[in-house]
Amino acid sequence: MADAEEPLRLRVPPKVAPLPFRIGHGYDLHRLKKDGRLTLGGVVVSEEVGPVAHSDGDVVIHAVVDALLGAMAWGDIGLHFPDSDARWKGASSTVFLTTVFNEIARFDYQLLNLDVTILAEFPRIGPFRERMVRHLTDILGDQVNIKAGTNERCDAIGRGEAIAAHAVVLLEADF
Ligand SMILES: [Zn+2]
Repeated sequence: MADAEEPLRLRVPPKVAPLPFRIGHGYDLHRLKKDGRLTLGGVVVSEEVGPVAHSDGDVVIHAVVDALLGAMAWGDIGLHFPDSDARWKGASSTVFLTTVFNEIARFDYQLLNLDVTILAEFPRIGPFRERMVRHLTDILGDQVNIKAGTNERCDAIGRGEAIAAHAVVLLEADF
């Protein structure tokens, strides 16, 4: 068992191609169920519905983590934080984000900007948007944007059966 004091480390390739910029896209969707607790961007937005998920099912952070991993060509969130691992049961996805972002910093890349789109019929995201941005900027720096829309009542998202998020990141080399 790893020492709890020790920061989590990703198993990443020993070398990263020295590109001046790296762009990454992430997408995540979770089904919703009645009751439970829905966390988005590290902020609790509903205690009426919750995600069907192994971790806290935060689609915003999962999409951002996948975008960061994609930018570095480090695979995806399931590779590094598999849902078969009991450590991640009910885990706060913020742990995934800080772990990945710390690892990116070790390879001398910084975030230039992050753009997130949330697709949700319920709950309305507007009242929580600023708090989500603050939670993400506390970790990633201040160039974070969050947008939200419904799916115009179309498909599972529009029926309120699921929630999804897209994220795009741009990283710049510090070297
Ligand atoms: Zn997810």
